[in-house]
Amino acid sequence: MVATVIDGREIARGIEDDLRIRVESLLHSGVTPCLAVVIVGDDPASHVYVRAKERACARLGINSVRVDIPSDAEYEEVVTVVRRLNQDPEVNGILVQSPLPDGMDEIAITDLIDPNKDVDGFHAQNLGRLVQGDTSGLLPCTPAGVMRMLESVDVDLRGKRAVVIGRSRIVGMPQSILLSQRGVDATVTIAHSRTIDMASLCRGADVIIAAVGISNMVRSDWVKPGSTVIDVGVNRVNDDSEKGYHLTGDVHPEVGAVAGALSPVPGGVGPMTIAMLMTNTIRATEIQHET
Ligand code: NAP
Repeated sequence: MVATVIDGREIARGIEDDLRIRVESLLHSGVTPCLAVVIVGDDPASHVYVRAKERACARLGINSVRVDIPSDAEYEEVVTVVRRLNQDPEVNGILVQSPLPDGMDEIAITDLIDPNKDVDGFHAQNLGRLVQGDTSGLLPCTPAGVMRMLESVDVDLRGKRAVVIGRSRIVGMPQSILLSQRGVDATVTIAHSRTIDMASLCRGADVIIAAVGISNMVRSDWVKPGSTVIDVGVNRVNDDSEKGYHLTGDVHPEVGAVAGALSPVPGGVGPMTIAMLMTNTIRATEIQHET
């Protein structure tokens, strides 16, 4: 391994330390931030993610409320819960855990959340602000976390070539906007399943962000020596271990012998996503109590 490891756990700890000061100041003015998480159905991975979010709230002194809805519930039931949480003055942030059961429209549900409580940053109003170049609001957590990771290694993005692999609403697309915003100034290419000759595209990149969901897809001969590689992917690979599976990223570990800096999976983007969710919850609380 020659690459510097971009340790998401350590960066996230630093962010949490800063957030504690902001929570203190809110508590001092009589406000306890509160995050409500709505979970529909029994997807085991979703339950793991939600528990990690609840633990982060507990570490920071943020109240967390969890609303469990059975997988066979009517869509209207989810709508009613979101509307109730929108009206609840004690709730500052609302998150509807993805994925929703088949047939439930995630985008429609997201757009029902009060934009000032949209701590995932996926509401059309918050994404729209981002497109307009305004990054002062609630930003999508994973892409915002990746930007903090890039800052941590002091990589100068100005004019540099960045390739974002993946164009999803929650990662790839907002990531490309954040990288190309004024002041960051990367020159961004968005790659996806129809992209031709991904390997040579990546070889020309100073920064690669892989957000695909294909285990070990990015190989060392795709990567320019010294470049920065951020691995967003989380893939469950079945094995003979007690758990029955292990996690891999979208970037093959061999890339560590070529890249200048590389984020690991696990321990990279995952903890940063949670740290940015906590940041959004506190930011939302501050916005709601601004005088
Ligand atoms: P997604 O909605 O499934 O999007 C995947 C993207 O990858 C799509 O744009 C797709 O292209 C592209 N793609 C698929 N196959 C490809 C190929 N062979 N070559 C190039 N591009 C290809 O997934 P997502 O929600 O963005 O998540 C991506 C990964 O990040 C997943 O592993 C997910 O678990 C992980 N993730 C991690 C965190 C975290 O906190 N660590 C957070 C969010 C997501 P098309 O648009 O053409 O279909």
